[in-house]
This record gives sequence, C-alpha cells and structure tokens, in this order.
Amino acid sequence: MTETAREANCRRAREWREKPENQGREAATKAAYKAANPELWQAQRSAASLRYSEKNRQAIRDRANATRVRLRAQVIEAYGGRCSCPGCHVHHAELLTVDHVKGGAHHRTTRKSTREIYRAIVKAGFPADFQLLCGSCNLAKSDRDKCPLAGEDH
Ligand SMILES: [Zn+2]
Ligand SMILES: [Zn+2]
Repeated sequence: MTETAREANCRRAREWREKPENQGREAATKAAYKAANPELWQAQRSAASLRYSEKNRQAIRDRANATRVRLRAQVIEAYGGRCSCPGCHVHHAELLTVDHVKGGAHHRTTRKSTREIYRAIVKAGFPADFQLLCGSCNLAKSDRDKCPLAGEDH
C-alpha cells in the first residue's frame, strides 16, 4: 500500500514528536498559542468537535440509544419491573414509564432527555420519588397524585 500525502504528513509529525529533543515542545507551542489567541483557540476547538459529531453522527446516536436502553432496563428492574399502581396488573417493561411521584413538572420543564433522567436516577441510587407506572395509569394520573383507579382491580 502506498502512503498518501496525508499519511506521510502524519508519519513525519509522529516521528518529530517522538524525538527526545522535541519532547514537550508541541504541548508548549499549543499552550503558547492558546494563551495568545484564546478566542481563536476556542473557535477551532468548537469547529473540531462539530466536525467530529458530523462525521460520526450515526455512531454517536447508536451509542446514545444503547446507553438509554441499558439504563432503562436497570431502572425498570430496580423499581420492581411492574406498574406500581395498586390493583394494576401491567408488568411488561415495554408498557412501563418512569414517573416522578410528586408530579413530573420538574422533569418536563428541564429539557432532559429520558437517557439523562435514567442516568440521574441510577446515579442517585434509585430514589423513592420515582416509581414505575404503565402508560394507562400514568395518563390517568396526569397531574393528580395518583391514578383514579388505584386500589381497584384494573
Ligand atoms: Zn398501571
Ligand atoms: Zn392505575
């Protein structure tokens, strides 16, 4: 395989970096540049991270989804894997929602993704102010403190 111009550049840069007399010089140059041009530095950093996220959009999304699925499974298991409304028989993970016991207004106004909410719950050690409700009980609960059928078979 022949080396492309870009690969040759990278190789030369790597060889330069590996030379003992050049140790720390690159970092020093970067630090000096950063100190002299803080705004330019910041703009270039942002551009680089934007380029990265554009190039890896699908992979980033897949990773985020996998994380959300994993965290959700953890949360559902920790809260008992079934609708917590007394008398409700739903225990299918697919039908369960994570409900904030004292009303979801807080999480609805903060623009957190479900993944971030799951992560916060796991990190907080599954606090008692969250519970599992099935979609129906959650909907029926709405902004009341509980599902109107709580205590009845449903
Ligand atoms: Zn239910
Ligand atoms: Zn219910």
